Amino acid sequence: MAAQTYTAATVFYSAFRAGAPDLSFSLPAAAAVPSSARPRSRGAWTCGGGCSHRRRAAVVRAMGSAPSSSSSSSSPSPPGQSQAKAKYTSLSEEEWKKRLTEQQYYVTRQKGTERAFTGEYWNTKTPGIYHCVCCDTPLFESSTKFDSGTGWPSYYKPIGDNVKSKLDMSIIFMPRTEVLCATCEAHLGHVFDDGPPPTGQRYCINSASLKLRPQ
Ligand SMILES: [Zn+2]
Repeated sequence: MAAQTYTAATVFYSAFRAGAPDLSFSLPAAAAVPSSARPRSRGAWTCGGGCSHRRRAAVVRAMGSAPSSSSSSSSPSPPGQSQAKAKYTSLSEEEWKKRLTEQQYYVTRQKGTERAFTGEYWNTKTPGIYHCVCCDTPLFESSTKFDSGTGWPSYYKPIGDNVKSKLDMSIIFMPRTEVLCATCEAHLGHVFDDGPPPTGQRYCINSASLKLRPQ
C-alpha cells in the first residue's frame, strides 16, 4: 500500500515538475502521502517542492522583479543573536531583491525550489561550512552532507540552533516540514525523517540559499 501511494505521489510530483501546476486540483484523495509512510530507499528521496511555487514565480516575473542587480550578495557579519535577527527581518522585499540574485530571492524570500541537479552544491564534496546566502549565518557543515541522489544538497544535521522548522502545507495532502534560517528566516528547503544515521534526518536544501566557505 505504501508503494501504491508512493507511486501516486511520484506521478503527482513529476507532473508538477513537468509544468502542470493545476494538477493539484484534479488529484484524487488517494494521492495523499503521509510522510511517515514513505519508503526509505534512495529512489524515494525527493525534495517534494518546486511546484506550488512555480506560478508565484511566474507572477513575480510578470510583475518585473527580474532585473534586480547582478551582484550576488554575501552579506558580512555573522549573527549577533536577536540584534542580527531584527536587522534582517526588518528588511523590505525591495532591499532583499537588491541584495540577492533573482534565483536566490525566489528561493529564500518566496519559498521557491530550484530544479533538481541544477544548483551549485548538489554534488559538491568540498570541505567547508555552508552559510546562509542572505545573512551569512553558518548553517551546515560539509561533514554532515551526504549523497541523497535527489539532486539537492542534503545534510543529516544543521549547525546548532541556526536553522528552525515549521509546518508547510503548501502542497495539498502533503504536509512537509519547512527549514528556515533562524536568523533571517530565509527559506532553505525541507527536512524529512528518512535520512541516514546518526540522526535519521534529511535536510533537503536549495543550493541557492547557501554560500559555501571552503576550509
Ligand atoms: Zn539567514
